[in-house]
Amino acid sequence: MAEATSIVWLRRDLRLADNPALEFAASHADTVIPLFIWDLDEEGGWSPGEASRWWLHHSLTALDDSLAERGSKLVIRSGNPHEIIADLVDSTGAALVTWNRRYEPAAIEQDRRIKEALKSAGCEVRSFNGSLLREPWEIETGQGEPYKVFTPFWKSLRANLGDVEPYAAPDTVPAPESWPDSMQVDDLNLLPAINWDADFHDAWTPGEAGAQQRLDEFLASRMANYDEMRDRPDRAGTSELSAHLHFGEITPRQIYAEVNHSNLNGRTRKSADVFLSEVGWREFAHHLLYHFPETTDQPLREQFERFPWGNSESALQAWQKGQTGYPIVDAGMRQLWAIGWMHNRVRMIVGSFLTKDLLQPWQQGSKWFWDTLVDADLANNTLGWQWVAGCGADASPFFRVFNPVLQGEKFDPDGEYVRRWVPELADLPNKWIHKPWAASDQVLADAGVTLGETYPEPIVDHSEARKAALAAYNEFKGG
Ligand SMILES: Cc1cc2nc3c(=O)[nH]c(=O)nc-3n(C[C@H](O)[C@H](O)[C@H](O)COP(=O)(O)OP(=O)(O)OC[C@H]3O[C@@H](n4cnc5c(N)ncnc54)[C@H](O)[C@@H]3O)c2cc1C
Repeated sequence: MAEATSIVWLRRDLRLADNPALEFAASHADTVIPLFIWDLDEEGGWSPGEASRWWLHHSLTALDDSLAERGSKLVIRSGNPHEIIADLVDSTGAALVTWNRRYEPAAIEQDRRIKEALKSAGCEVRSFNGSLLREPWEIETGQGEPYKVFTPFWKSLRANLGDVEPYAAPDTVPAPESWPDSMQVDDLNLLPAINWDADFHDAWTPGEAGAQQRLDEFLASRMANYDEMRDRPDRAGTSELSAHLHFGEITPRQIYAEVNHSNLNGRTRKSADVFLSEVGWREFAHHLLYHFPETTDQPLREQFERFPWGNSESALQAWQKGQTGYPIVDAGMRQLWAIGWMHNRVRMIVGSFLTKDLLQPWQQGSKWFWDTLVDADLANNTLGWQWVAGCGADASPFFRVFNPVLQGEKFDPDGEYVRRWVPELADLPNKWIHKPWAASDQVLADAGVTLGETYPEPIVDHSEARKAALAAYNEFKGG
């Protein structure tokens, strides 16, 4: 039955295609009001960081433009969603409100309250799965428990997936006769007051079209070698879709369907499956966040609450600024600062360095990433940091300490990644690019490097730091 007016509340689903909440509203109501609410209070202490806000600004602009092409627009408000939606339902006479679900603890609680209030006011409310292959509660172990190990989780999810057929974008989004008041995207003041985002513009095209273009490029030129290239920060080997996925400009269902519709031979099929399993880690992260919501701040493995983390502001700052004296660590941290993104292999290296070489709590790392990543995502970031620190599900054991020199030599063999992000080392020969302190005075002088002046001396000795980390671990295990 058609309803007069519907409101589609858009959050992490800033797209028109494969959007079940929009699809339902457009096919069940005469008019649709697309609504975005900027709300800082309801994010449970995880309001978007500076880099995410930059992305959000441009993503909202792109969405508003796409809606305009279909005779519609985005209604933008700022404040408490509960009050704003109730007010809009009242003023527009909307009989239906739809949204796609979120899985962060604060969002789940907020959605529950809003749904209850709208229903008791007589309004129909429909929520949908718009950002995962399967809902977190749909996959469980044989004992009816959440999974804590990735491989059986992913196997079970794939076995239960069935056909994946994303929705096309609606041709038109029927507009109301008169539009409710709306702010402009600019009014939200999401862009930085000082100009630190110059490199972001070159690196990214937020919005649905930019996401689709990334996926097309990935399928055409990167996917076939993804399994071999995904660990190489010096090569463009991964999809770079993470921020697009976070903001819901593209869905895992679209990715899954497009990967499987491509004509894949044996070798490419294998590589495609490795890629899909990374998308599977995103599913796993959401599964864990849903079932263990406290893990955003607390270790999943509770005994790690007693771990003797250090508290060194100067070590933390050297890490944040990319001034540790370990080139692969510094390159990663500077890439993060420059473009709001860091290669996955390097995220693991800098994470290991912070938590093991510097013995700083993983929560410090997750907070810094939260503020600086364009793809900052509560589920993925929590999983990543708990994995690195050895305290999460299916995590790398704490005693596996990454050696930043060997990691650099293995995954950035010609030092191209370091040269790009740590230009003061660019003229060092390959042999020394990952360990400048070991080069002779002559080699350093020829490359224009003066340790302690143009580039820092290592802030810790890795082998000593490793021993200290293992000692702390053994003490904590025995304690
Ligand atoms: C310490 C740490 C923190 C991290 N924080 C985040 C974060 O805040 N947001 C985020 O999206 N990813 C995070 N990751 C996971 C991963 O590093 C990024 O998703 C990946 O680097 C994004 O690049 P891509 O899109 O080219 O990935 P691809 O290799 O092309 O993978 C495709 C997609 O799969 C998903 N994915 C890939 N690897 C992982 C993973 N390990 N865990 C969960 N999902 C994954 C992402 O959505 C990604 O876009 C973190 C990893 C670590 C080690």
